[in-house]
Amino acid sequence: MKKYQLMAPGPTPVPSEVLLAMAQPMIHHRTPEYDALFAEVRAGLKTLVQTEQEVLPLACSGTGAMEAAVVNTLSAGDRVAVVRAGTFGERWIEICRAFRLDVLELAAPFGQTVPAERVAAALRAEPRLRAVLVQHSETSTGVLHDVRGYAAVTRASDALLIVDAVSSLGIADLPMDAWGVDVVVAGSQKGLMLPPGLGFCALGDRAWARTRTSTLPKYYLNLTEERRCVVKNEAHFTPAVSIVVGLRQVLRMLEREGLPNVFRRHDRLARATRAGAEALGLALFARATPSPAVTAVVAPPGVDSERIVAAYAAAHNITIAGGQGEMKGTLFRLGHMGYAAELDVIVALAALEQVLADLGQPVDFGAGVRAAQKVFAEKA
Ligand SMILES: *Cc1c(COP(=O)(O)O)cnc(C)c1O
Repeated sequence: MKKYQLMAPGPTPVPSEVLLAMAQPMIHHRTPEYDALFAEVRAGLKTLVQTEQEVLPLACSGTGAMEAAVVNTLSAGDRVAVVRAGTFGERWIEICRAFRLDVLELAAPFGQTVPAERVAAALRAEPRLRAVLVQHSETSTGVLHDVRGYAAVTRASDALLIVDAVSSLGIADLPMDAWGVDVVVAGSQKGLMLPPGLGFCALGDRAWARTRTSTLPKYYLNLTEERRCVVKNEAHFTPAVSIVVGLRQVLRMLEREGLPNVFRRHDRLARATRAGAEALGLALFARATPSPAVTAVVAPPGVDSERIVAAYAAAHNITIAGGQGEMKGTLFRLGHMGYAAELDVIVALAALEQVLADLGQPVDFGAGVRAAQKVFAEKA
């Protein structure tokens, strides 16, 4: 028997109390029971997203929520800017082009970021830009982009700031209202410790105003219709009832821990993971602020990173992730978001030492683990 451990940057492990909550008999969604469940979830989501706006759950993966953000706030032919510094930035571009939007790419080499000043310059050069679309945490490279800085410049313009927070909600601080972010998009299977299947969209006042003139086609993902139902604790279509039940449990857990502590925990896990990888002589892929959700590590010279991913699985029954797109073969990614604790990082690094040794790399056993433990020994 080899104990299974999921250490990928999504989906992430689901706590047993959440699994048990979701194993309850199915309830109907037009009942007083669902009304009470959803009332609690609605309030908890607002706290989590740090907004007074409704946070709309949708029965789709994170990408569905990304598409919802685009089709509800934009119109045919609109000019939009996209921060392209990883494969999720590319996904924004693909979605925008699928709906015939006119895309200005603000590109940076993968592993790097686009400074807010470049966004400001683009907005000055092209005042007709209708939106800026970015990731908060670019999961493919392990970089955290400067959403606060982007918001400071979009707020002073006519462009909406649309943020993919799929791998940052419940992981990194993103106070939507305080920063003036116009749209926040998230999903269930990363920091929220739930199975895949729920997407989330929260729109600020400027974004809601845009929905009134948006001409892009939408039916299932019509957020105006969705909000009309959500304010009555209902859903436009059959909601993903079981995941919403699990979500109530997750929101209670996060509230018990306290959001600042949730962010601190992820920051520590990420710092320890980076320290461990570097102590083993490995380079981090991130050349900008690293994400607290996931650490992208460059494979040693001459080693295909897919072999590291395969060795984790074969020798230790641990799922990590490799590189996506052009990064395939060059990096591997360790997820430390959601239901992740200090000793999970120790396990991931201990396994990394064994995997590297098995692949014929020189390893100072314990060096990675030791570096992580030193981070954890620091006073919080
Ligand atoms: C996981 C993820 C998504 C959504 O992916 P789905 O497979 O559609 O859930 C979007 N953006 C980022 C940054 C992600 O990490």
